[in-house]
Amino acid sequence: MSLIDIHAHLDLFGKKLDKVISRAKKAGVKRIITSGLNPKTNRKALLLSEKYTLVKPALGIYPQDSTKLTKSQIKSELEFIENQAEKVVAIGEIGLDKTYQNFDTQKKVFSQQLELAAKLDKPVIVHSRKAEKQVIKSLDSANQKKVVLHCFCGKLKLVKKARDFGFFFSVPANITRSQQFQLLVKTVPLHQLLTETDSPYLSPFKNKTNEPAFVKESVKKIAEIKNKTLPETCEKLINNYNLFQDNIRKI
Ligand SMILES: [Zn+2]
Repeated sequence: MSLIDIHAHLDLFGKKLDKVISRAKKAGVKRIITSGLNPKTNRKALLLSEKYTLVKPALGIYPQDSTKLTKSQIKSELEFIENQAEKVVAIGEIGLDKTYQNFDTQKKVFSQQLELAAKLDKPVIVHSRKAEKQVIKSLDSANQKKVVLHCFCGKLKLVKKARDFGFFFSVPANITRSQQFQLLVKTVPLHQLLTETDSPYLSPFKNKTNEPAFVKESVKKIAEIKNKTLPETCEKLINNYNLFQDNIRKI
């Protein structure tokens, strides 16, 4: 079985990472995209992708971090990302979050990063907590084509709108415990779904730290809802990933 974890924060595993990666391989995980959030974790994501062949980096400035950096720090980080374009598989984790302050600054930095993604022809991995409507509006006005809405918690109406724009949704492993994500999977066609863990956050299991191996839980639930076999579902999800990543090395 071949699995893909399109969104994780591997830098947070520290010394446990070697074991986390070997458990992921054992579970059939073929690709993990680890997302940076700021200058420090962006560099870490690059280092991890050099160390582990199945790990690919997404670089970006996270909404909360975008409000903590100065304008010139933002500018130089965007230049850094541009210089790493060959190694980077997506711009992320970027987006908007109404639970953090300075929404206007967030919007500005988000649109700067959408411009960069368009310029580099890279997909974007987007965070949208409590700002789903605004995120879709920004993506639409930037005319962004390759979009992954990570862990999207917007209302059904917004799910349908994003679906109709052709955006991808990455389904977290904690779908096993979430009616909302189960409804999302019912609403969005299989060819627009991807899978993620957001590990070490959002564990599908109580009392267990989340890790990329658990992405299997997303695939199992998607297979069940779409009434397909597990191998069939895996194959479709790999196709989606390859389509989404058509500018990098395929699996
Ligand atoms: Zn994340």
